[in-house]
Amino acid sequence: MTQQTSHSRRRFLAAAGGIAAAAAAPSLAQGASPSADATRTLPFLIGRSTDTLAPRGKSPRVVICGGGWGGVTAAKYLRQYAPHLEVVLLERNPVFFSCPMSNKWLVDAVDTQFLTHDYLGVAEKYGYRFIQTEILEIERDRKAVVTAAGSVPYDYLIIAPGIRYNYEAWFANDRRMAEATRARFPAAYIPNAEHFHLKHALQSFKGGDLVMTLPPPPQRCPPSPYERACLIASMFRQKKIPGRIIILDHKDGVRPIGPGFRAAFEELYKDIITYVPNAHIEEVDPFAKRIKTAAGDFDFDHAILMAPHQAGDLAWKAGVVPQPGSGRPGGWADVDPLFLHDRNDKDVYVIGDAVGFVSPQFAFYPKAGHVANRHARIVARYIAEREAGREPSYILPDNLCYMMVNTNPQEGISVQFDYKVNDQGIIEQTQLDFNERSPATIPEDFNWARLIYEDMFS
Ligand SMILES: Cc1cc2nc3c(=O)[nH]c(=O)nc-3n(C[C@H](O)[C@H](O)[C@H](O)COP(=O)(O)OP(=O)(O)OC[C@H]3O[C@@H](n4cnc5c(N)ncnc54)[C@H](O)[C@@H]3O)c2cc1C
Repeated sequence: MTQQTSHSRRRFLAAAGGIAAAAAAPSLAQGASPSADATRTLPFLIGRSTDTLAPRGKSPRVVICGGGWGGVTAAKYLRQYAPHLEVVLLERNPVFFSCPMSNKWLVDAVDTQFLTHDYLGVAEKYGYRFIQTEILEIERDRKAVVTAAGSVPYDYLIIAPGIRYNYEAWFANDRRMAEATRARFPAAYIPNAEHFHLKHALQSFKGGDLVMTLPPPPQRCPPSPYERACLIASMFRQKKIPGRIIILDHKDGVRPIGPGFRAAFEELYKDIITYVPNAHIEEVDPFAKRIKTAAGDFDFDHAILMAPHQAGDLAWKAGVVPQPGSGRPGGWADVDPLFLHDRNDKDVYVIGDAVGFVSPQFAFYPKAGHVANRHARIVARYIAEREAGREPSYILPDNLCYMMVNTNPQEGISVQFDYKVNDQGIIEQTQLDFNERSPATIPEDFNWARLIYEDMFS
């Protein structure tokens, strides 16, 4: 018997004898302290972070950190491309909540059911293991991911953590200001508690100034803040809410699909939306409800405060984000641009928004769910090829993004990106903006969403 199983068995027997033990132990009602006791006997299935949650089996194992757009797609495709692999998906949320389409959900153009998806059914169908838990650390030296319920050893690691808000850029180490900002005026760029908070705030908004601060690039889904402004403006008009939306943009102009969004601001929402370019943030005060920027100072009644974006915490914990002074672009994961693995470790891949600089022509892939889905399929293919003893050839993603700018009638604009490697070995991007507002975009948008949810969850 291995050490692990004899340890587990001891805990099982101890738990089985729990009734007698509980009768003998002093109860909390009698004044026993609830303080953490590392030696306390727990029921067998309650994991500690020091346990091995999933001991290694015979097959090589891929552990995926984060079950968002990238992670959940990778799990399915790994099982399809290389069925002999054991795949473990670690995710903190019990239910998948989609950021794409969530602007439409904020104004009731889609319902909650459209955005939410079940993790358990798809894991069962494709034969991977879904573990709902908080990932605490990634220990590269012993090839293990430490979660709240125990550690999970890996052979290959896929890091798919999405983004974090870099509140440090606004508040340095003032945790109180960062927490107040996130609690009162969340960006709703990370699912899902923030989305519910924002929806409630919008639905109870009686009027006044709603300020949106836009993060500097690179950011998650660059066109989506403009879409959000348009949809909220459309809702204000329909509900006759005397609100003004002030967009404080770090950039010097609207991008991508700039002409399309600017036409919507001018032609549909002139009396509601004020667009302020070059509004570099200088000071944010969530208590006084005031923002100082390079383009002026603004007081607000409510706000959607988007701090700068960076790779999600797990990328930092995994040590894939370059340290200051390393000479590499900071804030995002430093990966091989074509093969998406850590530059120093071919068994550690990064996918989705966390991926850093990939090209001197366009710098970063758009931080989009579509790209995360493509990265996931690509990396699953790379791992399958390696497992089959073949050297993988590079595969590049594509991207497609639809933005609704009017709810009555429903109209949208869109943007498409394609990639190729040029003669110098550099990835080149072609961007095509569709600026003309059209109702025809709407069914395409919903169809895109349906197909991609199906790709992840059916
Ligand atoms: C308003 C809005 C609109 C958008 N519209 C579009 C669109 O129309 N089209 C499009 O393509 N993209 C769109 N996006 C962008 C899209 O949501 C992201 O690009 C996509 O989610 C990135 O996928 P990801 O897998 O990298 O990260 P995510 O989908 O964020 O997944 C990361 C996962 O990791 C989990 N995680 C992180 N840390 C831990 C931890 N410590 N323990 C356990 N789990 C952890 C998180 O819970 C999360 O589920 C939009 C985004 C927003 C906010």
